[in-house]
Formats: sequence, C-alpha cells, structure tokens
Amino acid sequence: MQLYNKLSAKERAELIDKAGKNRLTLSFYQYAKIGNPQLFRDHLFITWDAFGVLGRIYVAHEGINGQLSLPADRFNEFKTHLDSIDFLKGIRLNIAVEQDNKSFLKLKVKVRKKIVADGLNDNTFDVTNKGVHVGANKFNELIEDENTVLVDMRNHYESEIGHFKNAVTPDVDTFRESLDIIEDDLKDYKEDKNLVMYCTGGIRCEKASAYFKHKGFKNVYQLEGGIIEYTRQVNEENLENKFLGQNFVFDDRRAERISNDVIANCHQCGNPFDVHTNCANEACHLLFIQCDDCKAEMDNCCSTNCKEINALPYEEQKELRKGQGNSNDIFKKGRADHLPYKKDLRNIFETLKVDKSQ
Ligand SMILES: [Zn+2]
Ligand SMILES: [Zn+2]
Repeated sequence: MQLYNKLSAKERAELIDKAGKNRLTLSFYQYAKIGNPQLFRDHLFITWDAFGVLGRIYVAHEGINGQLSLPADRFNEFKTHLDSIDFLKGIRLNIAVEQDNKSFLKLKVKVRKKIVADGLNDNTFDVTNKGVHVGANKFNELIEDENTVLVDMRNHYESEIGHFKNAVTPDVDTFRESLDIIEDDLKDYKEDKNLVMYCTGGIRCEKASAYFKHKGFKNVYQLEGGIIEYTRQVNEENLENKFLGQNFVFDDRRAERISNDVIANCHQCGNPFDVHTNCANEACHLLFIQCDDCKAEMDNCCSTNCKEINALPYEEQKELRKGQGNSNDIFKKGRADHLPYKKDLRNIFETLKVDKSQ
C-alpha cells in the first residue's frame, strides 16, 4: 500500500490542470490526546490520498495541525471522514480567503513531537488554561479599548505585509523568541491591561495565551480562528475590517489579500509593494519583497552576486554549491543586510508610547 507521496510537484501540477476541477484550500487544528500518532498518520494518508487531498499535516501525541487542499467535489466525503473521528467531529475548518488550485502540490502527513514548533516545555505550565476566545465583532470592540495591548503573534516577514491596525508587531524570527520579548516589555501591565493576541489561523495563540496567563497576565484574549476566520466573519456579518494588507500563508499562494492597503515596501527600491518572492538563485532562496520593476532588473534575484550566479549554466551552479549545504529553511531567513528597505518593525514601547524610564 502506498503510504507516501510519489509524484513530483511538476507532475502533480499537470494532473491538477488536466483534471480541470476546482480545489478548496483549508486549514484546521485540534489539540487532543493521540495514543499512536504513527498509526493515525497512516490512516489519514490512506484515506485522504484517495480523496485527492494535498497539503502539509502534522500529527503528534498532542493533536493535529493540517493545511491542505482537495477537489471541491470531494469536500463532503472529507468532512464526513473528519466527523467520524471523535476529536475532529464538528471541527471548525478555516476555508482560505483566496483560493488557488495549486496551493499545495504534495501530500505530506508527518509525525512530529508537537503540532507547532513553539519551543515551549508544556510540562511547565497548564496548557488548558487558555485565553478567552473572541470572534470578529468582540475583537473589533476590544482592540478599540484604550486599555488593550494588541499583539501580533507571528514573525517579522508575516506582519510586515499585513497586520491589524495599532498592533504590536514583534521583530522576531521565531514564535519562541516573541514570547520572551512580549513578556518582558509588558511586565508592568500584567494586571490592568487587556492582552489581545492573534495569529494566522489561531493555533499559535492556543499555547501563547496559556503561557502568558501562566506568566501572570490577568486579562488574556485570543482571536478565534485567527485572521482567516476573522475575515470570514467580517464578510458574513458586514463588520468593519480592521486588518490592513495581506495575510501571509505557508503554502504556494504565500499570501491572501484582506484589504487593499499596501503597507510594505520593495526591499530593493523602497516603492510600496507587498508580495514576497524567493531569490531565484537556488543556493540562496532568500524570502524577500521585490516589486515587478526590480524583479525584471534583477532577474528575480536578491543581489547582484546572486544574479551573477543565477546566470551561470546549471552545472556550474551545482559545482559552486558543493560542500555549501543547502538551506531549505527559506522562511526563517527573510532578512539580509544588502536589502536596504527591509523594515525594522516597531518595538512595543514605541507603539504603546510608554516611557521606559518611568
Ligand atoms: Zn523595487
Ligand atoms: Zn539571493
């Protein structure tokens, strides 16, 4: 029985075109006790592969975190299957705001230690003591309250292209890093301020809210279902949209547009622009923001050095790369000294207009 993806991304893309069917991109997560993640993983792979599911799904003893796409006409079967699993019955599915048939080109179901690489030792705090979950309406109210500190729990390259109005956007590369920075900068406000947090689909806030409560924050709120569910509710209930720009996503779409505001700049020329690209030099692959003019001028590369390498015959490039090691961690990079317009994001005190010396 086939338990692993066998097609290349290119072969899969061709099959999707040939099928000519609309696909639905969605995500969901659930914390639950899973006794045998490997067995559960195999069961999911076999069942979902047959439905034509593609995506990246993490299974751990602590639960499941899935981002995936499937043919729209198989959705009911997929949902019925989810409902047949005890802890996934009736689960909220975050349907992508912007659809693209090629958001995912492989099915990867992986067993991991955790469903989010949060760097936390869960034995040191009560993970079930979470913040208050709020929907879009209440969230809009809360973030207008002057007693609220609104914190973006995502990384610098995510909040750079889109975030909520007046949010604190920590300039961090990892989730773990942001927790300490936020705690330290807000330590004097644990009792009296509302700490309101959000992330892409809600999963990062599940642990973060519990962690901050453990650290003594009294009034902790989290946006239910993250930016994706917020957008759905805003559209459905005709609420004011307080999110500016694009929602960064971790699939081939890279982002979905939530408002027409462009809040970022091309990292090379500084003109307003908010679409990420990867440097075309395969040995670099830096994730950065590049406008169309710079893309044309730089052959989709982040530097003249990369442009020169990228122009070499492929065999020569491979020779150059030997022994260099290949970093697949493209999302972690996202910064380089030679990009003059990469923004340093605001620090918390600047946003709060609080004098640190007081
Ligand atoms: Zn540019
Ligand atoms: Zn480069």
